[in-house]
Amino acid sequence: MRKTLIASAIGAAIALSACSKPAEETKNSAAVEQTQAAAPATEQAAVSNPLLVKSTLQYEAPEFDKIKIEHYQPAMEEGIKQHMAEILTIAANKEPATFENTIVAMEKSGELLTRASSTFFNMTGTISNDEIQKIQSEMAPKFAAHSDNINLNPELFARVKAVYDARATLGLDGEATRLVEDYYERFVRAGANLTEEQKTKIRALNEEQSTLTNKFQQNLMAMKDQIAVYVDTKEELAGLSEAEITAAAEGAKAKGKEGKFIIEITNTTRQPALASLENREVRKKVWEASAYRGTSGETDNQPIVARLAQLRAERAKLLGYDNWALYQLEPTMAKTPKAVLDMFSSMVPAVVANTKKEAEAIQAMIKETGGDFELQPWDWEFYAEKVRKAKYDLDEAQVREYFEFERVLNDGLFYTMNKLFGITMKARPDLPVYHPDVKAYEVFDADGKSMAIFYADYFARDGKRGGAWMSSFVEQSKLLNQKPVVVNVMNIPKGPAGEPTLVSYDNVTTMFHEFGHAVHGLFSDVNYPTLAGTSVSRDFVEFPSTFQEDWAAHPDVIGNYAKHYKTGEPIPAELLAKIMKSRSFNQGYDTLEYMSSALLDMEWHSLPADAPLQDVQKFEAAALKKHGVDLAAVPPRYKSTFFAHVFSGGYSASYYAYMWSEILAADAFAYVQTQGGLKLENGINFRKNILSIGNSKDPMEAYKAFRGQEPTTDALLIRRGLKTGIN
Ligand SMILES: [Zn+2]
Repeated sequence: MRKTLIASAIGAAIALSACSKPAEETKNSAAVEQTQAAAPATEQAAVSNPLLVKSTLQYEAPEFDKIKIEHYQPAMEEGIKQHMAEILTIAANKEPATFENTIVAMEKSGELLTRASSTFFNMTGTISNDEIQKIQSEMAPKFAAHSDNINLNPELFARVKAVYDARATLGLDGEATRLVEDYYERFVRAGANLTEEQKTKIRALNEEQSTLTNKFQQNLMAMKDQIAVYVDTKEELAGLSEAEITAAAEGAKAKGKEGKFIIEITNTTRQPALASLENREVRKKVWEASAYRGTSGETDNQPIVARLAQLRAERAKLLGYDNWALYQLEPTMAKTPKAVLDMFSSMVPAVVANTKKEAEAIQAMIKETGGDFELQPWDWEFYAEKVRKAKYDLDEAQVREYFEFERVLNDGLFYTMNKLFGITMKARPDLPVYHPDVKAYEVFDADGKSMAIFYADYFARDGKRGGAWMSSFVEQSKLLNQKPVVVNVMNIPKGPAGEPTLVSYDNVTTMFHEFGHAVHGLFSDVNYPTLAGTSVSRDFVEFPSTFQEDWAAHPDVIGNYAKHYKTGEPIPAELLAKIMKSRSFNQGYDTLEYMSSALLDMEWHSLPADAPLQDVQKFEAAALKKHGVDLAAVPPRYKSTFFAHVFSGGYSASYYAYMWSEILAADAFAYVQTQGGLKLENGINFRKNILSIGNSKDPMEAYKAFRGQEPTTDALLIRRGLKTGIN
């Protein structure tokens, strides 16, 4: 049984957001369990359903040429049956519990379920249709029940506990010890050690939490229609493009308000339309609709927020923690809320100072363009856009001419990976793929040995979920004799038929980012599948990927691939400088609004169980003030009443994780530059200490082994243009 089994049960919701950055990138962490102990399948069954037997392709790559949609559900259902039988056998073993007959046996269990579900969950994001969605919703409760049947099995837990209690005397190596601890902690964190009475309480709290988070989400959906802003005349939309105005008219008509124009409210406090709307009154209306949502009427989320914070604290107390944040952070790299707060407070002065400078430039622009008022939150985007245009107007179309897809991939990304890690990529058109746009590669190590399969699925199409992510079809494991089979998925718009695809610079860095997750999977070198590759804590998983982003602009790399698609001329230095400069524009604001939300999240979940229900508005204001981030013109990216990550998603006390990973990435990248930059020695160090170990070591220890010291926030501030660097 793998930790990811739990993820598969909670389904797409958690797994798909596992690596989602504040910008929309997402990663489908290998959402399934992984195992071996083969259940013999008859040859006849194999003929009728290829998922029932191991693939005969290299590294057990899925046989996409044989698998049909109707094969998934029966294979997963049979997989659950077989896995449960294996688990019950392990739990009922009359022999005393040992590492081998309990922990290793669980690592080996569920082979069929792993194979069928890992392939299926990859398809749900890449070639989805009604049929696949139907299977998905039918299987979700079955996976949930399957997880509960394992996690709540007292005989199984007793055996895991026996191994855990004896672990120091069993002669286990570091990885095996960590595996035992990982299993034990997962059971305990689910409540396995509690008395029956306490378990009943936990179940009641879980149920209440599930009802409240559901209601929070439903309120958000319901209020979407209520808070949309309508205007009567086209003139009030001045600043929007003709296409946007037409869409606004059609949108209003669809809602039964023909003749009016609709401005829909998107999920963050900041609204895209605010950058263009010239009418200040309309801007104010839009901003207020966004910022005050969920604070009144039938969709008031305030009581839900207050009670959720309280009940999570109660749940934490039952499990032996002073507050929910302590419980949530225990298995992470940060470990404690204090570490997170220290990290943020070390950044606040630089971030606030930069934001104030940005505000001054905006205030000056207001004056320059004839305005006689003080900057308000609904003005920021509009005048920031004017400042941006004046400072560095970039012609996106011109930029893209220097980023032709094949060059970016081969002479940029694969080139960098070759210089850094020595690996080479060989196209394997003979391997079956799940869509004609997908390309299969075999990965060869520096010594020429074959090591993995990589699928590249870069282009946008119908049926593909938005965003970008990495996922696994087969996870590396020495125990199971498995090599990695991984995929990168993106949504790059394909060039017109017969013409090259030109890529935006954002998408170029995303290609590097996702391949950073890919090498985390490809270089995994552990025994146990539970600890393999990207199975690391949430505040660590974006580190290897973000680390790779900055190579895209590195002088040793960019000169090799950023060439005009027609003339082959290298990108002009001034244009490149402009791209880089424009990327650090408005970073004070971006960083501050994110930090404010992350701090809010941490404050809500630092309340003790005996704290009374809070007044949401007062609590929010006090929390922001306490941390010195209460700038009126820069509200949190999400306010409590629509902070879905933490009040209806899986990110409670975890929203900080995105920035924590980025701090590691920036610090590591800056360090590598002091060690000679793009060269094999640096790649070897990164691979050995970070990429190959998966979750087999403590992440901070791993980081120190790579870096020689703990990370600081300096490089991140420099990366975001909030501090001047020395190098
Ligand atoms: Zn990522």
